[in-house]
Amino acid sequence: MNKDIATPVRTKAILEKYGFSFKKSLGQNFLIDTNILKKIVSFADLTEDSGAIEIGPGIGALTEQLARTSKKVVAFEIDQRLLPILADTLSPYPNVSIIHKDVLAADVRAVMTEHFAGLDDVMVVANLPYYVTTPIIMKLLEDQLPIRGIVCMLQKEVADRISAKPGTKDYGSLSIAVQYYTEAETVMIVPKTVFVPQPNVDSAVIRLIKRESPAVSVKDETFFFQVTKASFAQRRKTLLNNLTSQLPDGKQKKESIIKALEASGIEPSRRGETLSLEEFGRLADELYSYFH
Ligand code: SAM
Repeated sequence: MNKDIATPVRTKAILEKYGFSFKKSLGQNFLIDTNILKKIVSFADLTEDSGAIEIGPGIGALTEQLARTSKKVVAFEIDQRLLPILADTLSPYPNVSIIHKDVLAADVRAVMTEHFAGLDDVMVVANLPYYVTTPIIMKLLEDQLPIRGIVCMLQKEVADRISAKPGTKDYGSLSIAVQYYTEAETVMIVPKTVFVPQPNVDSAVIRLIKRESPAVSVKDETFFFQVTKASFAQRRKTLLNNLTSQLPDGKQKKESIIKALEASGIEPSRRGETLSLEEFGRLADELYSYFH
């Protein structure tokens, strides 16, 4: 087997060979611990008939582990300076394709059709650039891609919010947005010492497994998310207060909002953070006719 890219010694040698300097603005914190990388990959349950999508391969530390465990890896990298490095470090792995693109601007579905035809399943596995963690996760989920799920490293604080349960301080519109599409869990807390350079914040790995259908069935998804966002606008306010101040013409429609809360069996004095996804679903559907 080839020598691992992610050992501290080899990483240093690669960076020196190419005179590479980290760009903080691109969230470049590379992993230098092969045990952590292997663990991340193990959470994805890949087989030799799986495909893997990586976002931000860096110098190929995780890409290499994915290439060894799956049939095909496609990695999106925004930083042109990394392309010759990746061509070098990943030369032993013909099952890897690097796409030089901002993943947020990429047509991921088209890429999947091109590269993953006939495979059993596809997982997204990544050590995400932290400046765009949430937009990347939301894009992958909202695009309804034919993926089985996502395993990714991100800021622990965001991981806590994504996997939070109702009634906890971290539960909010991000928990709902992600849990609407997936079963979410934090699977590992990761120390800063396994990165170079070390990030300023603590990290964690989450696993999101897509549900066969969304957690609740609602009349209008966009309106459902509008209601959940409105409900958390000011955490210390009651649901009634937030809905009247945040929904369009909410103040004039206060009586209708009270009626909708009653019809869905939810006390107007409750706070958004106490509502389950099912309760938000019921509430959004009861409110719908008053706002359309
Ligand atoms: N996978 C490598 C590792 O674990 O060592 C590097 C991870 S580093 C946290 C994030 C990577 O994402 C960097 O290589 C960075 O250049 C890349 N990146 C940043 N923004 C990106 C974007 N919008 N689209 C694709 N790649 C991006």
